Amino acid sequence: MSFSTPILLVIALLAILVVGRIITSPQAPGRVAFGLAAVASVWWIAMVVLRLNSEELSDKILFSRLAWFGIVATPLFWSAGFLDHAGFSQVTRRLPITIMLVISALAGLAALTDGYHHWIYTGVVNEERPSFSHGWLFYALLGGMYLCMLLACLMSISQLKRAARLHRRQMVALLIATCVPWGCNAAFVLFEFRLFNDDPTPFAFSATVMAVLFAQHRGKLFIAPPIARDIIFSILRDPIIVLDPSGLVLETNPAAEKLTGFSAETVGTKLPPSHPLMAFIARDTQAESTKPIIHFEAMETIFEVSAQPLERWGRQGSVMVVLRDVTVREAAQKSLADAGQALKLRLEENLRLQEQLEQQAFHDHLTGLYNRRHASTVIPPVISSASEEAPVSLIVLDLDYFKQVNDRYGHDVGDKVLSSFASILSDSLHGSELAFRHGGEEFLVVLPATTRDQALERCARWRHELATHTIVELKGVALSFSAGIALAPQAGTSLTECTKAADVALYRAKISGRNTDIVWGEHLDGIAGDGPAESGNAGDRRARRGRASL
Ligand code: GH3
Ligand code: MG
Ligand code: MG
Repeated sequence: MSFSTPILLVIALLAILVVGRIITSPQAPGRVAFGLAAVASVWWIAMVVLRLNSEELSDKILFSRLAWFGIVATPLFWSAGFLDHAGFSQVTRRLPITIMLVISALAGLAALTDGYHHWIYTGVVNEERPSFSHGWLFYALLGGMYLCMLLACLMSISQLKRAARLHRRQMVALLIATCVPWGCNAAFVLFEFRLFNDDPTPFAFSATVMAVLFAQHRGKLFIAPPIARDIIFSILRDPIIVLDPSGLVLETNPAAEKLTGFSAETVGTKLPPSHPLMAFIARDTQAESTKPIIHFEAMETIFEVSAQPLERWGRQGSVMVVLRDVTVREAAQKSLADAGQALKLRLEENLRLQEQLEQQAFHDHLTGLYNRRHASTVIPPVISSASEEAPVSLIVLDLDYFKQVNDRYGHDVGDKVLSSFASILSDSLHGSELAFRHGGEEFLVVLPATTRDQALERCARWRHELATHTIVELKGVALSFSAGIALAPQAGTSLTECTKAADVALYRAKISGRNTDIVWGEHLDGIAGDGPAESGNAGDRRARRGRASL
């Protein structure tokens, strides 16, 4: 037994182990072809072993010829398995596999019948090994096999960039497994490189089986194969369209074919310039904070658009557009926005009603002035800010003989008089001055930082305006009021004290003949411990005397 025999037998055993592991692994691309390649290589090795252990030249030649089935089948099936693993699954369909089997069988048959036609071997060069001079079929088969291996290697290298890390490792292992025996064979054929004084290819299968076993063990070859990539693309429910810079549709997935204007024939056609997807050529939405939205109105569908330039994948200027159906989300957002808007309107209406209520709560509906209730809220802080240098004047004004206006001209005219006087008061206010309707025909005015004289001046002005104000129904009858003035802090430091003081002064004004203003604390003459100070000019006093009643 030659020295090489045990080595070859170990390699054959390992190849059988590879076959066993392939058979027991799950269905994976290239599995059958790789299995057949391993079986063919076992055949090849077996024939080499038999040849090495033959004594007779005729036996050696027979086994050399019988090896040809394996010599042709091994690279053919290997290349097919490799291509399938790299994603070219068509090569391992039933027909190509059958054709490869037939080619291998025919090559084997041609080798067996070589004695008659010498297409493979033209003569024996060395009887010991033996080695031959070669015929045309030898070179034809060799060229064909080399071409297959080259194609498989190039195709899988082209896929390396796309592959996930694990699959890339698997591919590299398969490349090594391919290139080592192939290189050895080329070295043998072209440069007469020998191992153990023989063709090194069967020995180089040791590298192949080791690489495959390693890839199976560490790289999950056939366990985690790259089978889903194209499936993912085709089963994704999101339409995916790949466009070149001119708008030519390069690829679509089945979901994209269902879009309006798209079909299975869209690939290879150009989108019209007006198509909404044209806006996404040369655009990268990954960098945009909000994803753009497009509306396919015919489909009543709204899509969110992700545009991804494909430079990294070697497609200069091309863009992959992924559409996500967000119709439901958009509808939900719209109804949320509508609900928000309705809520906002309700809130505004509530605020308006609240303002109206406040208005009603704090204002007198007839005159529009603040009411008495509001006075108790806003006046105290004003009074407490009063000082000797900047007194606050609190004035109570009461229309004279108002009951008679009602009685003579009617309640409506009385209302008109009240409104007119309220307007006279409110129109004259400045800054933080305040006017209130204090009672029926009684008004309260608060003038911050106003001295006694300034308060009397203001009263005189109001009196003049009231007297000269025209109310047609009164037929020229002039109106007047009496006023009681309290100055905080002299008259008091609370609202109650000040209104009481002003009321006392008003009372004094009334009993002193009306149409006059009295300042609390002046002209003490025994009324509630205080004496009123009469004011008003001579004309006023004349008017007062002449109008003891209306
Ligand atoms: P004096 O000069 O002493 O103040 O006499 P007067 O008639 O003005 O005072 P009196 O208190 O006797 O009458 C006030 C009248 O004001 C009685 C009431 O009918 C009338 N009055 C109160 N509120 C309203 C109102 O809102 N509208 C109208 N038209 N009259 C009102
Ligand atoms: Mg009155
Ligand atoms: Mg009154």
